[in-house]
Amino acid sequence: MKQIAVIGGGTMGNGIAHVFAQCGYAVNLIDVKQEMLDKAIATITKNMDRQVGKGTLTEEQKAGSLARIKTFTQMADGVSNADLVVEAATENIEIKLNIFRQLDALAPAHCVLASNTSSISITKIGSVTSRPEKVIGMHFMNPVPVMKLVEVIEGFKTDKAITEEIVALSKSLGKVPALTQDYPGFIANRVLMPMINEAICSLHEGVAGVEEIDTIMKLGMAHPMGPLQLADFIGLDVCLAILRVLHDGFGNPKYAPCALLVNMVTAGDLGVKSGRGFYDYAHGTKDLVVAPGFAKN
Ligand code: NAD
Repeated sequence: MKQIAVIGGGTMGNGIAHVFAQCGYAVNLIDVKQEMLDKAIATITKNMDRQVGKGTLTEEQKAGSLARIKTFTQMADGVSNADLVVEAATENIEIKLNIFRQLDALAPAHCVLASNTSSISITKIGSVTSRPEKVIGMHFMNPVPVMKLVEVIEGFKTDKAITEEIVALSKSLGKVPALTQDYPGFIANRVLMPMINEAICSLHEGVAGVEEIDTIMKLGMAHPMGPLQLADFIGLDVCLAILRVLHDGFGNPKYAPCALLVNMVTAGDLGVKSGRGFYDYAHGTKDLVVAPGFAKN
């Protein structure tokens, strides 16, 4: 695999393009919006500048990596020569199924189609293509250039040889692949989201406050960030959507989202992206301040 196409130039897409280009692959980065492509190149450049500052990348390597990334707004132009497509578009099933129908028609027959989805079934995505044996999950973590893990998800029809190829490719990016089967939430979110939900339920029931819950998990379990702060970072709307996938997919009440989480999302308190979640991000400093609704007097 030499020519990679990345669909979506948002948070994950620009990180995925960065890592592939830095590891010597030619990358076509595709987004429906030119402004997202411009922003993606600016972000990759800024992040590579930081690596140069730290001495982990030379100026020549940076220039070479950036030169390997081409941008496109038309999928047909960007995928016609691809050996692998990594789709990192908006987490919406209709958008993703549409993209995979188009990719199936536009990408070469040998091309492997991977999705970076956090929660949508790889088997479902594969089922709308004529090549489900070449459809697989490559779930990178945010921020992609920093985080080592790639959760590799085998769909019901994924060919073992394709899985092996993607595992080897992930290693060539300096990542550590971990293989999972295609069931709701895979492993990362199936384990993480119930923990976040339980932290929110504990807060809702008054068992402990925001700071206490996060402190217990940080200092007691050596987590770098407490579950409530992590939920704010991920986005409370995203956490709710993933819990609903688990709840619907398994039909087990243990995955039912906490009523407090539902209320916060309905009210528009989505965490960092909206300026307020369990913490208040509107005050402009990096110090965490518990959001007014949860602060003790
Ligand atoms: P984002 O909203 O930052 O970016 C999505 C991009 O997709 C946007 O730039 C949008 O213009 C583009 N897009 C939408 N429809 C498109 C189309 N038809 N063709 C091309 N581009 C299109 O989203 P994100 O946070 O980067 O998430 C992308 C994917 O990665 C999702 O599936 C998400 O679940 C997954 N993911 C996200 C994280 C995270 O922490 N953000 C972590 C792991 C996985």
